[in-house]
Amino acid sequence: MNHLTVKDIDKYNFSDITQCNLGFTFNTIKDKLKFTKSFVVEKNVDKKWFQSIFYMLDFEFFVHVCEDITPQKQKEIHLEQAAVFYENSNEGIIITDVKGKIISVNSSFCKITGYLKDEVIGKTPAILNSGIHDRNFYDTLWDSVQNNASWRGEIWNKRKNGEIYPEWLSIAKAVNAKYSEEFYIAIFTDITTLKEADKKLYFYANHDVLTGLANRVQFESNLKTTIEGCKRRRTQAALMFIDLDKFKEVNDTFGHNVGDEMLKSIAKRIEQSIRKEDFIARIGGDEFVLIINDVKTQEDVINLANKINKNIKEPLTIRDKVFFMTLSIGISIFPLHANNSEELIKYADVAMYEVKEKGRNGYRLYNQSMTDKMSEKITLQNQLKNALKKDEFEMYYQAIINVSNNKIIGAEALARWNHPVRGTLAPAHFIDFIEDSSMNLEFADMVFTKVLHDIQTINSKLNNHEFKVSINISAKQFFLQDFVSIIVGFCEDFYISPEQIELELLETQIMNHSEISSKKIEQLHEKGFRISIDDFGTGYSSLSYLKNFKVDKLKIDQSFIRDFLEDMSDRAIVEAIITLAKTFKLKVQAEGVETKEHYALLQTMNCDHAQGYTFNKPMPLDVFLSFTQSYNDAK
Ligand code: C2E
Ligand code: CA
Ligand code: CA
Repeated sequence: MNHLTVKDIDKYNFSDITQCNLGFTFNTIKDKLKFTKSFVVEKNVDKKWFQSIFYMLDFEFFVHVCEDITPQKQKEIHLEQAAVFYENSNEGIIITDVKGKIISVNSSFCKITGYLKDEVIGKTPAILNSGIHDRNFYDTLWDSVQNNASWRGEIWNKRKNGEIYPEWLSIAKAVNAKYSEEFYIAIFTDITTLKEADKKLYFYANHDVLTGLANRVQFESNLKTTIEGCKRRRTQAALMFIDLDKFKEVNDTFGHNVGDEMLKSIAKRIEQSIRKEDFIARIGGDEFVLIINDVKTQEDVINLANKINKNIKEPLTIRDKVFFMTLSIGISIFPLHANNSEELIKYADVAMYEVKEKGRNGYRLYNQSMTDKMSEKITLQNQLKNALKKDEFEMYYQAIINVSNNKIIGAEALARWNHPVRGTLAPAHFIDFIEDSSMNLEFADMVFTKVLHDIQTINSKLNNHEFKVSINISAKQFFLQDFVSIIVGFCEDFYISPEQIELELLETQIMNHSEISSKKIEQLHEKGFRISIDDFGTGYSSLSYLKNFKVDKLKIDQSFIRDFLEDMSDRAIVEAIITLAKTFKLKVQAEGVETKEHYALLQTMNCDHAQGYTFNKPMPLDVFLSFTQSYNDAK
């Protein structure tokens, strides 16, 4: 309001003094006051509230009393807002008196609990008790309300229809300022849906979605608890690492859907083989673990491993296909092998790898020598990594002889490790360790680089672009998706025609994925590479693939050649392989031709090519080149 001074009173009119711009002119006020003694107007100016009371005295004078009523007005507005909040809040609200009798509840309370307001007023919130919490729980709750003036937490309550539900509840003690009376206000949210999501979350965080079994997280915590229990009770527990043999092949050949169904069935079979108190989890693709509590003797564990193995071996039908699966099981025992969970896990894993290495399908109990072997392997792999970096490998060459004219027409490239201390090492000392490790592809690249470089030298020294070099290909290398384009790239980089290269594949290698193999071999064939089947006769020897695969040559395994001079059944096998090759119009080569007699017999058998110590042992490139020149010149 403007400030007026009494001195200038004559200059003001009625409106200036009353500031009553509410449509109340002097005349309207006069008219109103004719019928009443007074009247009140509330007015809002610049967020402040004023109350004007007009009186008429002796029908002659007007009295205007104006008061700033902002504080009262705000309280009123807050109260109104509070009332609106109270009624429309999504939270259920209960107000009780100091004795706990319900004074009022809001609509959400009714919606959540199912009670009408009239049904609860005057009662205590005990009508909502679910019976789930014990006395202790409520005592702590009320202690907190009394001492800290509030409590908040999760509580299970019961709806009118008997349904029990979880709620998030805050209780506060408050004081009514006007009457200084204590009362309680409880605000709660129904968290049923939240809880369900939580439960799902908990389930997914601790379980494997595919099989419904526990997952690695739960396994690790369970193992720790088991070990603690064993320590307290002085009992034994066993840990089994279970790996499904050749599962990758099932997945790759029949697809992930079949693979998934297989894992589910396997999980079920393992579960059916164990007791309720044992714990099973799936911790990786085809890896399961079992924790067996209260182990009395090792025999118990072995019997269980046998039982599981037996159940898994039963034919398994998935989508009309019958599978015969086996497991590799590694076992470690607490406290016999280790006294903490990390080591127990490590040892069960080591034992499982031992089973895999010994041909899968079985179980092994951990023992110290396994770790020694494992650490030897790791040391060797580290040395090999170093050897790759330091370029300690070299390719040696062994001649391939054309039996009909006795000329060297090619060579097989064989890797050697020039070990700084142990001298030149043959692949038997390292090839498995390389193929088992992540460096296998780097090794394969190194072989290709060296061999192609050597072919350039061979071409310039022998001046014979028909000369063929055989390269051994590992399964991992062959099944690389872009294997074909990689080796085509190598040929282009070194200006070498694929026609000069023969790729040696093992029949076991290509048979495992016959469809992919036949396509890949066809592509390689189209690019001009020759394909030979190495160690023929030692693998599946399924004849059908000879018809379907575009291979060029069979290499008769040296084990048949070794004794075929005396051993008639070996000789019959060699003859059969040669006949077979001729039938399919393939070239045939004998490996391990150690003596002139071997060679002479092969000549009579119409074998196309021969390779062996009787001609030369694998030798470094320069030695091999001079050897070849003199060998071919001499004939
Ligand atoms: P393989 O492919 O069967 O190679 C033939 C092996 O027989 C060679 O052993 C060779 O030295 C040996 N050999 C040749 N003639 C005779 C003989 O008259 N008598 C006897 N007793 N043995 C003979 P090496 O060089 O020790 O190679 C062993 C294996 O290592 C090879 O067997 C091959 O599977 C693998 N290998 C060699 N080099 C490579 C390579 O560069 N890459 C891959 N992935 N594997 C390779
Ligand atoms: Ca070979
Ligand atoms: Ca061979």
